This record gives sequence, structure tokens and C-alpha cells, in this order.
Amino acid sequence: MRCQPHYKRPVYIWLKNKQHCLLCDEPADGQIPICTACETDLPWLGDQCVTCALPLAASLTCGACLQDPPAFEQVAVPWTYSFPMDTLITRFKHNGKWPLGHLLADVLGEFLQHRFEEDLPRPDALLPVPLAPKRLRQRGFNQAAMLAQWLGKSLDLPCEEHSLLRVQDTDAQQTLNAKARKRNLRHAFALSPDAQVKGRHLALVDDVLTTGATAQALARLLMDAGAARVDVYCLARTPKPGDPA
Ligand SMILES: [Zn+2]
Ligand SMILES: [Zn+2]
Repeated sequence: MRCQPHYKRPVYIWLKNKQHCLLCDEPADGQIPICTACETDLPWLGDQCVTCALPLAASLTCGACLQDPPAFEQVAVPWTYSFPMDTLITRFKHNGKWPLGHLLADVLGEFLQHRFEEDLPRPDALLPVPLAPKRLRQRGFNQAAMLAQWLGKSLDLPCEEHSLLRVQDTDAQQTLNAKARKRNLRHAFALSPDAQVKGRHLALVDDVLTTGATAQALARLLMDAGAARVDVYCLARTPKPGDPA
């Protein structure tokens, strides 16, 4: 076995560096398959509501959060739901392009790690937003659960996939206005009997935050069950329907 190389590390590094950007196919130099140019070009969310991350002209608390403070503490989200984020999420969600989802989860993980070092307390666990059983059957996977698992791995946090249950199939939320969504969601979720909630800081994980009604319904449920704090992590944030973008 003398012809075997003694030192395997250079080979490993060479393999690692042979990554290409998943978005433009140029070589990617980091740990994650995205090049610096593509990462910079993503629609990074600027000034936003300090609670619900609604895009705003300045960083303050939006009118809705002032008037009716949500049950969650803070939404941590890197991007707006606009090009190319909308296309990337759609390809992951509806066309089953898992490497794209994994890539987005990895960049979200880096963003969160940075926030943990700056101002955001690390949660005790990640809880993916459950998918309605009908949807799960149609799609074959829960995109929020996959994101939460990848995030859990990169951030070294437990992902508790079965704590939250969707007990009632709700109609496709996209077709409903904010008020109807809220009404629709109030009884849609429940806690699994073995969910660990009391005194814990939990973070909900979803792909896109639209009105925040789902996050609000789940955060209310968790806070009522004794959670110490609930945050929300997601990939992209849309402006509220009817609001100027
Ligand atoms: Zn690229
Ligand atoms: Zn707000």
C-alpha cells in the first residue's frame, strides 16, 4: 500500500472547491454552491418592521404590530419575495428541486448564525410549519420541514417536526384575504401530545411569510401552551396584499 497518498486533505480540499454556483454555473469558492455575485444580487430585505419584517421605508414597528402586537417576538428573514427568490422557491416547492431548497436553507443558516452572534437569541428548537394533509399528499413533502431539517443541521439545533399538527384542512390560503385567513386558521392547528413547549424558546420555520396569519396562529398556540418566546424564520417576506410594495 505504499502508493497510497499519506495525506488525504489536499484531495479533499480540491474536491470541495470543484463546486459550481447553482444559479449561474460559475465556480463557487465558498462552502455553499452559490457564487459571490449571485449571492449579492439576491433581493436582500432592507428596512423593515422590527417585529414582523414587513418591508418599510425605515426600521421601526409597523402600524399593524403597534395596534395588535403579534404573539411571536420577531421574524428573521433575509429576502423579499421577488425575483429571483420567487422563482427559486417555486422551483424548490412545486418542481421538487431539492438542491435549490438546500442552497437557500444554507444561506439562510449563515444569515441566522450572523444574527445569533449580533442580536438574536438562539432558540431551543426549530418547529416547521405543518402542511395540510391534503397538500402533503399532493406535493409529497413539506418544504418547511425540509428547510427546518437543513437549518437544524447547519445551526446545530434540534428540529422537532412533529410538535405542531394541522388538524384541519384549510383552503388554499393564497385565495383568501387577511381577515378570512385569520378566521380560517384559528382552529387549523394543534399541539401534539408529546410536544415540549413550556418555558422554551421556539422558532417556527416556513418558506414564505405573507400576511403572517399562519405564524400568528401557531405562535399564539405555543405561547398559550407556556412557551417562553416564539420567533419566526423564513426565506422571504412579501408586502401585505393591497399595501404598496
Ligand atoms: Zn452564480
Ligand atoms: Zn410589523
